[in-house]
Amino acid sequence: MPRGMVPRKPARTGRQDKVGVRRALPPAKAAERRKNAAHGASPGVSPRRAEPAPKGRKKPSTGSASYNPVAPDRVAEILRRLDQLYPSVTCALTHSSAWELLVAKILSAQSTDANVNRVTPELFRKYPTVEAFAALTPEQLEPNVRSTGFFRNKSKSVVGAAKKIVADYGGQVPDEMEKLLTLPGVARKTANVVLGSWFKKADGVVVDTHVHRISRRLELTTENDPRKIEQDLMKIIPREKWILFSHQIIWHGRKLCIARKPKCADCSLENLCHAADKTWSTVDIHENAKA
Ligand code: SF4
Repeated sequence: MPRGMVPRKPARTGRQDKVGVRRALPPAKAAERRKNAAHGASPGVSPRRAEPAPKGRKKPSTGSASYNPVAPDRVAEILRRLDQLYPSVTCALTHSSAWELLVAKILSAQSTDANVNRVTPELFRKYPTVEAFAALTPEQLEPNVRSTGFFRNKSKSVVGAAKKIVADYGGQVPDEMEKLLTLPGVARKTANVVLGSWFKKADGVVVDTHVHRISRRLELTTENDPRKIEQDLMKIIPREKWILFSHQIIWHGRKLCIARKPKCADCSLENLCHAADKTWSTVDIHENAKA
């Protein structure tokens, strides 16, 4: 070796030998890996970054073949926790009659309740009765509801519903599902909101975007079609809970179980929830529990 040259020390990483160095895993992760290796993955279940469970929470095992997401005990526990979280929630759309609620619900499509609540007080001051709406053309209504989006279709639906209610139902919003479904712009979701929130009739479960997403995350359904989701929920939730359950899930969807980044670490349903897109988990993740 020429004078003055000092041989290089081997790098600690071993990169000169193309050898990777494995970093020691934290003890919790190492234990989890050993456990997974020993048991193998259950079908449809891929355990994912299980953080240490907070004190007082027991890590339930759901990898067994006997796990049933719609078992009555599990559903009852979800309902119990929702009752604790949201004991007396109601519809967030401002209204003082069945007609006002119907209009507000039609206007809320592809919009937010807050946005609709900004529009409706002035709207109902200007047109205080169903008859006043029935006397309008859709074009006359449009400027009043423009800020809620899709205002041309919404105007047609509101004016059309008002005309039909005046012509066929004596100016009164009907309190039956079949009759409500004859009104322009009214499908099961809107009809269920009016029946449940105003008439206190549990004819079905409201399936909006929040109920759709969270019912799937909680594995209360595997369906994607709102009508089928509603059927699934009606089978497993007691009828006397249908109205409140929808409100609770809608509030949960706004506050914690938001679409893109659910706040799982703050959610008291967390150790019952195995959703694939959880942001934090103390339990196994189920790949089929997707939003
Ligand atoms: S744990 Fe997360 S994904 Fe599950 S219900 Fe709560 S917020 Fe939603």
